[in-house]
Amino acid sequence: MQKKSELKQVEYHAAENPHVGDFECPNCTKSVPAWRSSGMSDLGPHFYCSDCNNAIFRQSDQKLIWEKRGDDELQKITETLPNCDCGGRFKPGENPKCPDCKWEFKHQGSAIERLSDPHLILVDGAILYGEDGPEYQLHIIAK
Ligand SMILES: [Zn+2]
Ligand SMILES: [Zn+2]
Repeated sequence: MQKKSELKQVEYHAAENPHVGDFECPNCTKSVPAWRSSGMSDLGPHFYCSDCNNAIFRQSDQKLIWEKRGDDELQKITETLPNCDCGGRFKPGENPKCPDCKWEFKHQGSAIERLSDPHLILVDGAILYGEDGPEYQLHIIAK
């Protein structure tokens, strides 16, 4: 596991990136800057932390569900998802949350449907995990 100080930092500029925008929290009305993947790439299954806005995307999960997306595959993935450095755990069914009030931006799909969801959402400050732990931390620079 990399130490936080060595973690790669990535900046997206809201003015230049069409996939950056603000979500408004329906609960506390705070606007939450976030990046949403375009859905054009072949992004595979991704999962959010139970306690924070970090997310994980692993190529091995993508391979696993290449031919079949069912309960067995979902269970296999669930069993191997790591803990998040915040103390939470990456799990199917978790969602990005409002950084202020923790309101969950709920997803309509079931856990199995969500294996095919091409849209990953990273809220400002979230860390994306990969096969071997944290890969980078995202910062959204306002317009
Ligand atoms: Zn809120
Ligand atoms: Zn976490």
